[in-house]
Order: sequence, then C-alpha cells, then structure tokens
Amino acid sequence: MKVLKFGGTSVANAENISKVIKILENESKKHKIAVVVSALGGTTDMLIEAGELATAKDENYLEVFQQIADRHNNVVEVLIKGQKKQTVLKHVNSKLEELKQILQGIYLINEFSNKTIDKIVSFGELLSSYIISEALEQALQNSSLKDSRELILTDSTFTNAIVKTKETSTNISTFFKKNKDKVVVLPGFVSRNKNNDTTTLGRGGSDYTAALIASALKADVLEIWTDVSGMYTANPKLVKQAFPITEISYQEAMELSHFGAKVLYPPTVQPALQKNIPIHIKNTFAPADEGTFITKKSKDKKEPVKGISHIENIALLTLEGNGMIGVPGFSKRLFSALSRSNINVVLITQASSEHSICVGIYSADAKKAKQIVDEEFVYEISKKKIKPLLVEDGLAIVAVVGDNMKNHQGISGRMFRALGKNNVNVRAIAQGASERNISAVISNIDIKKALTALHNRFFEKQIKTLNLFIVGVGNVGAILLNQINKQQSYLNENLLLNVKVVGISNSKKMIFDEEGIDLNCWNEQLKKGKKQSLKSFFDTVKEFNLSNSIFVDVTANEEVAKTYKDYLKESISVIACNKIACSSKYSDYQELKDLSRKYNASFLFETNVGAGLPVINTLNNLINSGDKITSIQAVLSGSLNFIFNNFDENSSFHDIVKQAQEEGYTEPDPRIDLSGVDVARKILILTREAGYKLDLKDIKNQSFLPKESLKAKTVDDFYNTLKTEASHFSKLYNSAKNNDCQLKYVAEFNNGKASVGLKEINKEHPFYNLKGKDNIVLFFTERYIEQPLIIKGAGAGAEVTASGLFGDIITLGRN
Ligand code: ADP
Ligand code: ASP
Ligand code: MG
Repeated sequence: MKVLKFGGTSVANAENISKVIKILENESKKHKIAVVVSALGGTTDMLIEAGELATAKDENYLEVFQQIADRHNNVVEVLIKGQKKQTVLKHVNSKLEELKQILQGIYLINEFSNKTIDKIVSFGELLSSYIISEALEQALQNSSLKDSRELILTDSTFTNAIVKTKETSTNISTFFKKNKDKVVVLPGFVSRNKNNDTTTLGRGGSDYTAALIASALKADVLEIWTDVSGMYTANPKLVKQAFPITEISYQEAMELSHFGAKVLYPPTVQPALQKNIPIHIKNTFAPADEGTFITKKSKDKKEPVKGISHIENIALLTLEGNGMIGVPGFSKRLFSALSRSNINVVLITQASSEHSICVGIYSADAKKAKQIVDEEFVYEISKKKIKPLLVEDGLAIVAVVGDNMKNHQGISGRMFRALGKNNVNVRAIAQGASERNISAVISNIDIKKALTALHNRFFEKQIKTLNLFIVGVGNVGAILLNQINKQQSYLNENLLLNVKVVGISNSKKMIFDEEGIDLNCWNEQLKKGKKQSLKSFFDTVKEFNLSNSIFVDVTANEEVAKTYKDYLKESISVIACNKIACSSKYSDYQELKDLSRKYNASFLFETNVGAGLPVINTLNNLINSGDKITSIQAVLSGSLNFIFNNFDENSSFHDIVKQAQEEGYTEPDPRIDLSGVDVARKILILTREAGYKLDLKDIKNQSFLPKESLKAKTVDDFYNTLKTEASHFSKLYNSAKNNDCQLKYVAEFNNGKASVGLKEINKEHPFYNLKGKDNIVLFFTERYIEQPLIIKGAGAGAEVTASGLFGDIITLGRN
C-alpha cells in the first residue's frame, strides 16, 4: 500500500493533472494506492481573498469567485470526455453555486470567522479531489472518491485544527479495510469536528492528511509529489546553487520544515516517524529524478550540516528588567499569555543573567503580543521592575540543520563568521538542546545574502564568487576587464575563484547584471546603459547586497575617492588605483584604514606606487613582521623616468613629453607628473604605510620646471611653455652630462622627512642604469641596514597597472 500526495502546483491545471494521472496509472498497476490532493494551485489564496473582499463589502469578490469558477470549469472541459462531461460540470457548478451563496452571506453579514474561513477554503480541495477522481475513473475504471472529512476528526480550532489521532486512525483503517478499489482519491487539508463542522489542518495541511492516512494504514511509503525534486539544501527559489538532499532523517526534515522549508508541512513527519514509514519527496514534473528519502536514520553521516532554511516576517519580543532576576515565573507568565492568545512561539533565547528573555513570533502576531504582554505585566511595568515589551519587526530566522552537527566542533563559528563577513547583522541566536539546529535572527532584507553565504560556506566549499563593481573603464580599466575575461577559467580551476563583474561604469553610463556582465561585449552594452551617477552606482551595489562585493576604482577622480567610505561601511571591499584617497589629508587616510578594520572589508591600493610592482605589499610584510623602515630612496615615476631617459641634446623636451603621454605613461594631465605632485603622493603613501604621520605639505618638492610652465593654466598652455622654455631643459641636461651623471627624479625619506626632486645621479648609484619607464625602490630598515631591499621593474603602463589591480582582486579573493 502506498499513499501519494499531489500538491497545488501538481494539480494546478488540466495539463499538470494529466501528468499526475499518468503517474497514478503506472503506480496503480503495482500497488493499491491512496491519493491525497491539494486544491488547484493558488485556489486557497483566492478563496480567502474572495471571503475577505466580501466581508469588506467589496463587490470584487464576485470577480474572484468567477475566476475560481472558470478555472474549475476549464479543467473539466479539457479532462473529462464524452457524456460524463455534462454530469461532472453539473456537479462542479452546483458546488460552486453553494460557494457563491456562502460568499453572498458573508457579504451581507460582514462576518468572516475562522469557522467560515474553513467552510470556504474546503471548497478548493473538495472540488479538486472530485474532478481528479472523475478523470482517474475515466482512465482506470477502478477508483473512487472519499471525503476526508468523514475520516479525519479534529477539535474545533478552526483554520488550524488539532487531530484526534485515535478516532481518526480507526476511521481510516475501517474504511480502507472495506474498500476494494485499486485507487482511492481523497481531498487533503479538510477535516471535521465532533459537530460535523468543516475544519482544516493549517496551510499546507494536505501533506499532513496524507501522513495520517499512511500512518493508519501502515503504508509502505508516503510519497509527497511537488514541483521540486526533493528537499533541497536551501530554498531553491532563493539559492541557485542549492541541490536536493538524497537522504535525510525524520528529525532533520522536521527541523528544516519547521524553520521554513515549505516543501513539507511540519506536522507531517510525526505520524510517519511513529510507524517508521519512509517519506519520499518526488517531482511531478521530473518523475525520474531521485528525490529525497526521509527515514529513521539517514545513511549519509559525513556531512554535519544537511540543510539551511529560513522563515520570513518574524518579530522579536524582548522582555527585560532587573525585576526578573532570580524571580521564578516570569517566563511562564509570558508564554502563558502568548499561548492564551494563540500566538505561536517560533524561537526562544535567554541570557544566563535572566535579565531578559527574547521570543521570536510571526510579525502578524506582533501587535497583539505587545498588547497582551503589557497587560499581563501591567503591575511590574508600573513599578518599573520590568520595561514594557520591546518589539522589533522586519526580521527573519535562518537555521542551519543537521543531526551530526553535535559531533563536529566549530559549526557555529563557521556559520557566524560567514554571516559576519557578509555584513549580516545577527540580532539573536538560539541553539536547540538537541544541537540539531542553530538559528540566527537577522533582518528580512538580508535573507538572500545570508542563505547564499551560508550555502556557500557549508555546501560549496570549493568555489568562491567575487562580485566586482568597476568604475573607470578607460585605458587601464578596459585592459583589466580583458585580463579578467581571459583568466576566468584558470582562476576557476586553479584558485577556485569565480570572478564576476556585476557593475561597470564610466563617466557617462553604467550597467549592472547580477549574473555577471558578458565581458566579450561589455563595451557595446555600456553604451546602452543607464545614465551614470556615483550615488546611484553606490545605491545599486548596496541594493544587490551580494556576498564578497568589491568596489574597484580605476579612475583618477577625487569624487570617486570620496565614496570609498560609503562602501567600506557596508562591508564592501575597495580596491583603488586612484591615489587621491591615500594621499589626501592624513585623517582621511586614517579613517579609511579604520573603517576597513571595523567593517572587516579590505582596502587595497598596491597600484598606487609602482603600478604592478609589489611595493606596498612588500612594505606591509616588513612592518607586519616587526621591521621598521629607516629610509626610502626611490625613482617612482615611470613617466618622468621615460622622459629623462629619452631626453638628450638631439631631442626636444616638448616632444618627449608628448610621446610619453601618447604612450600612456603619464597621468591624463601631464602636469601632475612633471610638477612632481604624483611622485610626492607616492612617497607620502609609502611613509604612511611605514607608520609615519605625514601630509602632502610635509613633502619638500623643489620643482625643476621653469616659472612659466608652473603658471600655465591649461594643458595646452603648459605644452607651449615646454617649447618656449626649451633652453631651460637643455641646461638641465648639459649640466648632468658635464658631471658624467644621469638625470633622475628621486623621492627620498630619511629621519622622518620626505622630499622629491630632480637629481644628477652618478655612475656608482643603483639608479644610474634605470631604463625606460622602470621604477626602483630601496628600503633601508632595521633588518636591511647596509644593503637595502630593492624592488625594481616596469612601474608604469596600462598592462602592468591593470595586472596590479588584478593582483589585489586575487589577494582579496584568497583571504
Ligand atoms: P505543494 O504545493 O506541492 O505542496 P509547496 O509550495 O507547499 O508545494 O512546497 C514546494 C516549494 O517549497 C518549492 O517550490 C520551494 O519553493 C519551497 N521550498 C522552500 N524551501 C525548500 C527546500 N529546502 N527544499 C525544497 N523546496 C523548498
Ligand atoms: N490548499 C491548502 C493550502 O494551500 C493545503 C495544501 O495545499 O496543502 O494551504
Ligand atoms: Mg505544500
């Protein structure tokens, strides 16, 4: 004997019911079967809506009624053939007429009690079971319909009735003993009290009807046929990576369903567990899929965590006050008050100080809870022994579930680290005594992020996704996108990193795609993007609320640098090639560092000095390992180096600077390089990273530019002065040549003081042979005393700068 239950989606329309009939044709060849069916998907909601409209004297209830009537008529039209069609239509429409009259009654008397609700919603299952049994009879000729209300007896808690199990079990077994049909169809959800009033078993209750029947008949298996291929590791509608659990214990399934895994109505497990009947969850739309087996002990013992579930719309009640300490009876009174008003308690936590107690309930009950609890404790509140009940709404519970968690240490550590890392604020924590469940109360808006992060932590240990939001896709930015595109599969395979670019912006347009922008055609897409604004870019990043979000600034723009704070405060990491933030006021730099620590978000800017060369990283390693920088000598401008390496008696200074700009070695405004400001910023950043509190004004900067060039108002004017002042530059060159020296633009830091300026470098100095656009940095430290630690190599150019940024992205991904 088998009991099969088909949910709302499985019987939503004629096409789906045909699939159900096919499954039943197959099954009935092998066993006797009881088939429990839900209402056509969505009908229960529509029936409640019609009732509510009618109570509110809103005539639209008739429209909703008509939709219900049409759906049922349509199904009969398609499914029932021949002469039988008229008989079935007649019966269905007489039931619908009855429903309409009750709705009219509600309209007239403005009353929609729980008792009436049950009367109304029962039509859903009564109609669906009738139609399906007729369609089945047409296919099998050996089936019948039995009204579950004649079998399932309950108390009178309308809309959520408690089953009288003994009588119910006897009724079921007596009926089935006599019944000789191969297939019996029964409506789920509906039941009756001892006065023969219709009651129901709670929303989702058809699963429970099927379990009661399976238990009474000691069925071989209870099959729950639904629209997904089993109980998943997390709600598959929210977590794309979730997958069906093949085997799970009754307790685990109960825990997951109690904490929101809607695929199984929580009370369903108990009757099956008592008789040790396996529950098999199957997909009506993919019958060949394995599904989930729920049994006494799941064989799969390896994984401590089996699934993650969540409940939305939770309110947290906090009863707090010194008067509670050591006084027995407070919690009993709190729970009795809630229970008297039928308020379901979902979660409880109490600190050991007994100073406060925290209770999670459904948001819908929050108002009532506040009223009745404050009434219950009116005396204590007036005497200030406790505070009025504190209610926080808009919350959710996420629960991590597994029988085997108790044998593994560190599960909760992993859970809360994953939440913390993704900036999910935890309001309360509860762990069941069985240690089968750890629950956290979080904000409703964080649900998806929390589930994804937890799922990633417990079920997808392998691949970590980085979500990049890139601002500035000029020369360097475009190359970075290209590098990411080319390297994606390597990173996936070798570093288990999935680098996804979710947002791109230039100064005019911006585009977003949560699934990752196609990097083969980002350019065309960006042209069609939304109008850019830094504010709406930030708002969108925040709204996406994705785990491991990274903001990448590939501009040289001050306004963009000002937004870093906002990102860090949202625990979004920042990677910048823009130097402005780190070289602005010391207090600003310090604030960014502090925010990065406080919100556990990285702030990386390796490319600020020496493009892709590992200058800042090396410096950080020295400092972190306890070394101290005593002196720095460096040539830090790839552009100035390029210029002075190429400038000689046969060339014009103007043309060389032009060439440097054209080849992408200078900042967009070459004056930033030639005035020495860019180098000053770089040495400033190095000294700050070395632990010194310097500002830009503390860096001595003796310019080699003539007055006229310094005064130039525009880039074009500036270029002109390079022509008119050509003799000034020749003089600089000739002096160096006469002294057998090379011109180098040098940054220095000694005894807490820093300076930048053009120097004549003699043959013995390590800077003398510096070629092309190379940079060099010498760190003298307490450990590197005589021979400095030297870093040397190409320090400018779009390719190496992009690869430096990419390096920061990977560093962050591997943290
Ligand atoms: P039915 O109408 O068949 O009773 P339900 O809507 O009650 O179906 O339950 C199935 C739905 O449960 C799925 O479509 C899915 O959205 C939701 N669900 C939530 N959590 C889980 C989970 N952990 N595994 C599977 N489904 C889940
Ligand atoms: N039709 C009911 C509901 O929608 C019962 C069920 O489908 O299980 O809640
Ligand atoms: Mg259901």
